[in-house]
Amino acid sequence: MVETRGKFALIGAGPMGLAMAKVMGEQGIAFEGFELHSDVGGLWDIDAPRSTMYASAHLISSKRMTEFTDFPMREEVAEYPSHREMRQYFREFAAHFDLYRHYRFNTEVTRVTPLGGSGDGWRVEWRDEHGDHEAEFAGVMIANGTLSEPNLPQFEGQFDGELIHACKYRDASQFDGKRVLIVGAGNSGCDIAVDAIHHGVSCDLSMRRGYYFVPKYVFGKPADTLGGAIKLPMWLKRRVDGMILKWFVGDPQKYGFPKPDYALYESHPVVNSLVLYHAGHGDLQIRPDIARLEGKTVHFTDGSQSDYDMILTATGYKLHYPFIDDGLLNWKGSAPHLYLNAMHPDRDDLFVLGMVEASGLGWQGRHEQAEMVARYITGLRGGAAPARELKAAKAAGFDRATGGMKYLDLARMAYYVDKATYRKAVTGWIAKLSGGATS
Ligand SMILES: Cc1cc2nc3c(=O)[nH]c(=O)nc-3n(C[C@H](O)[C@H](O)[C@H](O)COP(=O)(O)OP(=O)(O)OC[C@H]3O[C@@H](n4cnc5c(N)ncnc54)[C@H](O)[C@@H]3O)c2cc1C
Repeated sequence: MVETRGKFALIGAGPMGLAMAKVMGEQGIAFEGFELHSDVGGLWDIDAPRSTMYASAHLISSKRMTEFTDFPMREEVAEYPSHREMRQYFREFAAHFDLYRHYRFNTEVTRVTPLGGSGDGWRVEWRDEHGDHEAEFAGVMIANGTLSEPNLPQFEGQFDGELIHACKYRDASQFDGKRVLIVGAGNSGCDIAVDAIHHGVSCDLSMRRGYYFVPKYVFGKPADTLGGAIKLPMWLKRRVDGMILKWFVGDPQKYGFPKPDYALYESHPVVNSLVLYHAGHGDLQIRPDIARLEGKTVHFTDGSQSDYDMILTATGYKLHYPFIDDGLLNWKGSAPHLYLNAMHPDRDDLFVLGMVEASGLGWQGRHEQAEMVARYITGLRGGAAPARELKAAKAAGFDRATGGMKYLDLARMAYYVDKATYRKAVTGWIAKLSGGATS
């Protein structure tokens, strides 16, 4: 057995795992990383086994709003970089902060089991090319991603064409010569619909609910860079942003898109300039929900029907932690209920990183989460008062950092936070735990 009793086991070398590895190094926390793929980058490496990336994918948040603050993207990287540029960025990040040497690559963690209460250690089991292994660790950090396990919808009836989930979509050539129906109009669904418009024979988009569409550019600048330093209260932000959307996007309902029955920011907006453009050119038909399938015919809930060769369901992903008992993660509804989405209420040797989503959180928001966790661990080890204060706060019961927002009751919104509320809480703890300074 390998001697690892004083180390944390870190699962994943995606953006989140890398951020955690970096701050653990900075804070002097011993750890060993495990990564299923042969390299870093997580789902941004389209060749990684659990990547759900597709050839045409680009960031939907702009580079300066997404990058790690202490590792800016190179000047020549596009404002909305492709997944290829992002993969390179994460490789450079890992090399710059000397993170590669901490990881075992081509290695899958298959089981993590506590040896007792918090602090008693964990048994970690993993598999690599040499077979199965296990060792005891001080604790476990889970950064295995949130967008790899497909949420597969059930349809009534039988479809005789090709039916795939977006997680199996890689390249627009998959649409060649096909009449395509995309189901779900989130960010991936809309991106993929644009590919199908260009490469398929026809493309329809089936939508259950309306979305707010945000163009990638507003006044010639990436939309997420507007607003800058001015922090508006939500009611005013909604009014201002709603007006900007009216100017730049107009009324998507005129192309057949359903009207959202919720307020702006109660669900993740769709950042896409092309889908409305194509709808306006008549290249995209909007359809309601599917009622049933029959041969190659899809019957919709409004009584209409059409024939397709391919249905692609862009119906999102669900949280998936197959290597740990559900009972250990304090699940509440569709997501583990953890303090600031990362910290177990009672255990100080189990953390989930990156199980957080917010409009515009970016890598820096994830880095802050990692820094809070790392500083908490070092604070506890040193007996620091702020760490004891945080321990009491997370044990006392807590709500998700929604800032009072009523998010849609959907699995993908179960770990959504209000960016301003979340970052304020996290950076507040970082400042306390570090005696005022943040790195
Ligand atoms: C098409 C697309 C566009 C996106 N655009 C943006 C954007 O513009 N801005 C933004 O902020 N976010 C965006 N995202 C969200 C994306 O989830 C995050 O950017 C980021 O990749 C999350 O990082 P992560 O490290 O948490 O997870 P991942 O990138 O999924 O990495 C998880 C890693 O864990 C590894 N792993 C999993 N299980 C095991 C195991 N049992 N043992 C060992 N290793 C394991 C995986 O191999 C993987 O490398 C986008 C996502 C997609 C799919």
